[in-house]
Amino acid sequence: MPAREGVIGRTTETTHDIDTEVVVVGAGPGGTVLSYLLARSGVEVLLLERHADLDREFRGFGFQPDALRLFDEMGLLERVLALDHEEVRRGVVHVYDKPYEVFDFDDLSGPYDFALLMEQPPLLETIIEAASEFETFTYRLHTPVRDLRDEDGRIVGVRALDHETGDELAVRSRLVVGADGRFSTVRAAADIDPGLLESDLELLWFKLPETVAHSAAQSRLNEHGLLLYFGVGGGEIQLGWFIEKGTYPELRERGIEAFRERLVAVDPSLAPAFPDSLPSFDACSLLHIEPGLSGKWVRDGLLLIGDAAHVASPIGAQGNVLAIQDAVVAHTTVTTALERGAGTLPAATLRGYEERRRPAVERVLKSQRLAERGLSWLVRRSDSLPEPVKRPLLKAPFAIPAHVPIARLPFGRRLLTRALFGPDPVRVDTTRFRERPGGRR
Ligand SMILES: Cc1cc2nc3c(=O)[nH]c(=O)nc-3n(C[C@H](O)[C@H](O)[C@H](O)COP(=O)(O)OP(=O)(O)OC[C@H]3O[C@@H](n4cnc5c(N)ncnc54)[C@H](O)[C@@H]3O)c2cc1C
Repeated sequence: MPAREGVIGRTTETTHDIDTEVVVVGAGPGGTVLSYLLARSGVEVLLLERHADLDREFRGFGFQPDALRLFDEMGLLERVLALDHEEVRRGVVHVYDKPYEVFDFDDLSGPYDFALLMEQPPLLETIIEAASEFETFTYRLHTPVRDLRDEDGRIVGVRALDHETGDELAVRSRLVVGADGRFSTVRAAADIDPGLLESDLELLWFKLPETVAHSAAQSRLNEHGLLLYFGVGGGEIQLGWFIEKGTYPELRERGIEAFRERLVAVDPSLAPAFPDSLPSFDACSLLHIEPGLSGKWVRDGLLLIGDAAHVASPIGAQGNVLAIQDAVVAHTTVTTALERGAGTLPAATLRGYEERRRPAVERVLKSQRLAERGLSWLVRRSDSLPEPVKRPLLKAPFAIPAHVPIARLPFGRRLLTRALFGPDPVRVDTTRFRERPGGRR
């Protein structure tokens, strides 16, 4: 790796030149899965992650059954299931204490009839560990990408900062993959609009001990609000509370005790956890729900996947599986394009990936937007309705007769069923896999 002195910003740094076939920016579900698949197919791949470890900010922890199938096709399912997790087979919403089933994975055929709830960091580490078994894979933590290298409109690499040494990396590649999430630096540097869509909602997250909170994937709804529960293993349950966008300062002003009282009004069984398990708003994180759909996912030398291409809403827990499905389709497109010649991969050879994925992503996004509108109404308007009107209104979307075909299900369950089961089965192209060290495939 040749090194030279250079001046960047106000500091003098050494610049290291690195050549690789593909550089993947961002070690989320999309970036790690694509890096693993490329490395396993003999492609030289460099994965760059901005943070010093993977254990820092909130990440979505629901993985749909289709993600299990894809992990199995990749040869990773056994390792994934060895991690701390919870299995979700049925989803139940308690509306005024009456349970309504909103999805049942028993309807799915085959062995992948449950979803996983798990913390992302151990999962990502497991995928990176699997990729590291292949010598064409290199992983650099604490190395944020700051800019793209552009030659006559073609993307030919990235510039990154190695925080460990303070040096700049000038990476030259045939393809840059932007897998750097909702605030993607790669997307911004390529001048691609994220296509953000307005949302009236924000989500407040906090954790409670699982001894008091209910188990995996449940929710409770009444006139005081909607409470979501996600068991993630490790003795804790993650809870979510929707609020109207911009109203968090008011909620804080009313005080943590008033918030705890509202939570207990939705679920009285939480009372023993308070005040100890939710001593202040410092134990809460506020997450913005601002989905988006970029107008363009490929350029000469550039491909976007996951949230960098389409910012996922947390509604219906679809973002992880969409990012993984993107990576699976991108793997086939990229390995085929790399074989076709030398130099920067032209947009024309990458476009098949976008054409395959965009309609599927648009369908999921549409379902999420519809569900979001309903939720938004609930959060903003339901306080003003008289109780005799509100109660039947809140119950209506969930009143579902058993075993009705999807097309004839009531609106709420149809929406959830479509979103949760995912519309587009993609397959891992295992014919591209090389042997693992030790002769295993
Ligand atoms: C509140 C909330 C709850 C959610 N819950 C769920 C859920 O339960 N289930 C679900 O499926 N989805 C959920 N999602 C969505 C899900 O988290 C995302 O869709 C998913 O993480 C996208 O994966 P990704 O690989 O595209 O990006 P990310 O997971 O965002 O990963 C991007 C990576 O890129 C790194 N990075 C960023 N910039 C740079 C840079 N310049 N250089 C190098 N690295 C960089 C980041 O540090 C990060 O590691 C939720 C989202 C929100 C906001």
